Amino acid sequence: MSSVADRAYEPVIGLEIHVQLSTRTKMFCGCALSFGEEPNTRTCPVCLGHPGTLPVVNAEAVHYGLMIGLALDCELAPRSIFHRKNYFYPDLPKGYQVSQYDIPLAAGGRLGDVRIHRVHLEEDAAKLVHSGASGRIHGAEGSVVDFNRGGTPLVEIVSEPDIRSASEAAEWLRLLRATLRRIGVSDVNMEEGSLRCDANVSIRPAGEATLGTKAELKNMNSFRFIERGIEAEIARQEAIVRAGESVVQETLHFDPASGALTPLRSKEEAHDYRYFPEPDLVPVAPTEAMVGRAREALPELPAARAARFERELGLSSDTARLLSFRGELGDYYEEALGAARADGGADPTALASWVTVELVPRLPDGDPSASRVRPDALARLVSMVGAKRVSGSAAKEVLTAMAEDGGDPEAIVAERGLAMTDSADLGAVVDQALAANAAAVAQYRAGKEKALGAIVGAVMRETKGRADGGAVRELILERLSQ
Ligand SMILES: [Zn+2]
Repeated sequence: MSSVADRAYEPVIGLEIHVQLSTRTKMFCGCALSFGEEPNTRTCPVCLGHPGTLPVVNAEAVHYGLMIGLALDCELAPRSIFHRKNYFYPDLPKGYQVSQYDIPLAAGGRLGDVRIHRVHLEEDAAKLVHSGASGRIHGAEGSVVDFNRGGTPLVEIVSEPDIRSASEAAEWLRLLRATLRRIGVSDVNMEEGSLRCDANVSIRPAGEATLGTKAELKNMNSFRFIERGIEAEIARQEAIVRAGESVVQETLHFDPASGALTPLRSKEEAHDYRYFPEPDLVPVAPTEAMVGRAREALPELPAARAARFERELGLSSDTARLLSFRGELGDYYEEALGAARADGGADPTALASWVTVELVPRLPDGDPSASRVRPDALARLVSMVGAKRVSGSAAKEVLTAMAEDGGDPEAIVAERGLAMTDSADLGAVVDQALAANAAAVAQYRAGKEKALGAIVGAVMRETKGRADGGAVRELILERLSQ
């Protein structure tokens, strides 16, 4: 009989993501969005919540919201409405946040293996800055409010609890971020808060269908912290359950420095938001033309691109995902591939491997557009390797030189004398190596196949690695069979 202590548990994870939209202006007023300007310089009576002001919905935010809904394969609501979500906090000058409640903009979608519960529009709160022990900020002590962020358009995306591990959660969030970046609705910068993720985590005995009590991890701002935070929470809940106790529903903060999970607020203090329909805003009722425009604005999405790379180019699933989830890397690869095809060189798989394995570590700040290695130059280098005009190790040296100073692969190969030893020269080197290694030749002839290695090694040394190992081996065997 199994006891609670030795049972296997299964984590059940759902994510809630807030995305700041990169519209020109705020959600309900004409203030420009803020990118680190002086505090409280991007405000107006509407976003400061002055009495008597009236909000107007930002059409571009609705357009972006519809694009997100379509990209996530959702049903778009024919008529969604805004609600007031009431709570009192200094970062909310109106005393409520305008959000969507019972009828969101879009619902019932899917991205990869995870279903999407809902997608809705809302406005961001202002930013509280705490001076803490360090003293004064902006000439003040205690906490101050910067209203520049207040009213920034947000889309909240809520997944169904379909995720089963911390690594799966991080991987799915990468796909979501790549998708949002690809459709161009947000800069999805996690450190700067343009993309913020909360995770709902619970565990249940493996194989059971009912959900356990969940805890919510708030505002994690990097993939690594998300993965570590969820892992820590799963371990915490397992320890509680194995000790025969019950998980309490609460909101937790994960501190990446200490690895500790601390409660933010318990259910007892949960807000009663007293949602009610926002009387100052008309419903969002997208016309066919609006939906059509949103659909036309969608480029090929990362999941579809990865599938195409696998299907049409024969890339492995991991490589295809790496290239598609980092769209700029996929763009670089496709440009290199186009150049390679125009020259009739470079095999797609070899080129993909050179981009993901060799180019990526040589990128400045991980940005291929800032690299001095032009996509067509990389394609030419890879086709030189394919044609055995340069060895793999010499080509890596060439790539490093190109990454540092730009330049042409052919020129660098010629300048540094890295061209592969041609077959006529190679024949002479092999003959010399056979003559100089008579003992190894005798051993090989006596049936000791390993002795061949010494002869191959001698040739490689003599050519300073500028020979193809396979070709050298073949040539030696040919000579020995004569
Ligand atoms: Zn404003």
